[in-house]
Amino acid sequence: MANIINPKNSVLKRGYHRMTLDFGNTYSNGSFHKGCDFTGNTSVDDGYDYVVAVADGIVTSCQNTIGGVVKDTGTAGMGNYVYIEHDNGYRSRYQHMKKGSVTVKKGDKVKAGQVIGYIGNTGNSTGRHLHFDISATGKVAGGTYIASQNRTYFDPKPYIKGTKTLSKNTATATVKKSVSEIAKDIINGVGEWKNCNGTARKTKLESMGYSYSEVQAEINKQLKTGLKYYPKYEGKSTQIDIVLKDIGVPTKYYGSWSKRKPIAKANGISTYVGTSKQNEKLVNLAKQGKLIRP
Ligand SMILES: [Zn+2]
Repeated sequence: MANIINPKNSVLKRGYHRMTLDFGNTYSNGSFHKGCDFTGNTSVDDGYDYVVAVADGIVTSCQNTIGGVVKDTGTAGMGNYVYIEHDNGYRSRYQHMKKGSVTVKKGDKVKAGQVIGYIGNTGNSTGRHLHFDISATGKVAGGTYIASQNRTYFDPKPYIKGTKTLSKNTATATVKKSVSEIAKDIINGVGEWKNCNGTARKTKLESMGYSYSEVQAEINKQLKTGLKYYPKYEGKSTQIDIVLKDIGVPTKYYGSWSKRKPIAKANGISTYVGTSKQNEKLVNLAKQGKLIRP
């Protein structure tokens, strides 16, 4: 429990940000609270506790029809809410607002300080309050990463106090790519991922905060659901092995031309001796998702 005094970037227009639940492992059962809960002036609704956007952004989602308390951990549990996307991949959320009070709709541009709704007690709520949180996609330094959402939540207090800002010119957080985007880059051999395989790939991914097995699983998933990629065949015999490995072909079918023979045969190359042209054909079949596995 703590009070926030003199906020620079209010989320409650009136200026009172009395915090009833802090960011972090602060629920009574110790589970993770992704933001801060604030009440307005008092627990009594006297008609002045408007909710305002913490920074400029675009509304990406909202709900305005929840009438009261709903014991639900999904969308209804958020009560009446607004999501705002800001620069640099940040997102802020405002939940449990009063039914019918939300003044914005999806796609609206909002300015810092603009009224977006009114404090309430809707959704999974035990009293009149605003749940406010700030997050960004991927794993980002300085926050708490929630793997199931591939999203990092930040303590919102410094943003409200003005010691950290969401504005484009001063934000310092580096927003990391999603697992799906990284997998695609690896498959395409984009930039630093060019010829980055095996242990080198594992080391690099882990140094960037990704799980190697998670990324590999995503690579395999993307490859199996339609091979869009793989850079132009470069005539390297290792390339065909990378492709075969990445699409989950058993190890006994790659590593040397003689091991690849059954897979070549299954794909109509009966005279396979591992020439560049033959390998290119296999790579191209894999790219189109047409490679037959023996
Ligand atoms: Zn909350």
